[in-house]
Amino acid sequence: MLTESERERYARHLVLPEVGEEGQEKLKSASVLIIGAGGLGSPVSMYLAAAGVGRIGLADFDDVDVTNLHRQILYGTSQVGQPKLSAARERLHDLNPEITIETHETAITSANALEIFRGYDVIVDGTDNFPTRYLVNDACVLTGKPNVYGSIFRFDGQASVFYAPEGPCYRCLYPEPPPPNVVPSCAEGGVLGVLPGVIGTIQAIETIKLITGIGEPLIGRLLLFDALRMEFRRLKLKKDPNCAICGEHPTIAQLIDYEGFCNPAEAGEITPAQLAAMNDPLLIDVREPYEFQQGHLEGACHSARSRSGALLPLRIAKRIRPGDAARRGVSPREASQGWLSRVAQGAAVGRGVALTGICGCGAGSVGG
Ligand SMILES: [Zn+2]
Repeated sequence: MLTESERERYARHLVLPEVGEEGQEKLKSASVLIIGAGGLGSPVSMYLAAAGVGRIGLADFDDVDVTNLHRQILYGTSQVGQPKLSAARERLHDLNPEITIETHETAITSANALEIFRGYDVIVDGTDNFPTRYLVNDACVLTGKPNVYGSIFRFDGQASVFYAPEGPCYRCLYPEPPPPNVVPSCAEGGVLGVLPGVIGTIQAIETIKLITGIGEPLIGRLLLFDALRMEFRRLKLKKDPNCAICGEHPTIAQLIDYEGFCNPAEAGEITPAQLAAMNDPLLIDVREPYEFQQGHLEGACHSARSRSGALLPLRIAKRIRPGDAARRGVSPREASQGWLSRVAQGAAVGRGVALTGICGCGAGSVGG
């Protein structure tokens, strides 16, 4: 039952026939765990608190940093230096004192994820790294919880609902993580501050739909948002019968070592013999110009050959053809920021090879 003050607070929900008193009561008795109180976690937690989700859990262990404030609207300048969760609790409690805020000031790990997840109805993934993303996915599959997924990078975002009993999981879409360092983080590649507002708000909507049972959830569909073109696209996702965790014969029955899974020590290095065996590989030499002049592999192009200054986005790099990289050019500034090596790796990955270095071979190594 809703109290009088709740009826007043949620009046605009109650007049929606699709929500009404019944839907609002479902929200009140629901519990949602938000992993990450950052760019995505800010709008998710604020809208779910405002909407009256009865119990909201937040998992994070960072302090508020001034560089967070351009997108993490949960926090203010006066809270810089404070633990995020105490700052978040204060803001969310002010937003809606009728609900319960639970804080998990810890990293979500293989050791604690299942136990924490079991205490909630819906899990919202607001993480910014691959080890935690695979961990959240697997813990959701193993506990049977829906995983409301969102991710952001630069001007692009994506969202979906991974719910293994009814559709694909994150591993069905991405069975393997990208090779280490191929995908730059938001700290390295940047992100438009408003972008997590769009994607996080979509995650909040999907969470409310799952709880109330209204509309069609994003299960089996991947929503892609391109802020520069102001374009949404929807891709159909199929469940992979061979998925390692939700497929017909799963090989993962418990949580694994996700750091090791996403950052294998040997990844990205190949031997000169392996390179020689490749069919027409694209080689981009990202060392200093003088090093290139001193010696390089036959056929390698140097990053600084053209200086148009145009940044080459990874998704273009993935479609790149041999010779294109040199023609497009990447500025020395981008190269020095580590962009070029990632572009080079992305290009190589697009050709089916993760090439980050050639062991025992100084000239022509691609890395950094
Ligand atoms: Zn799966």
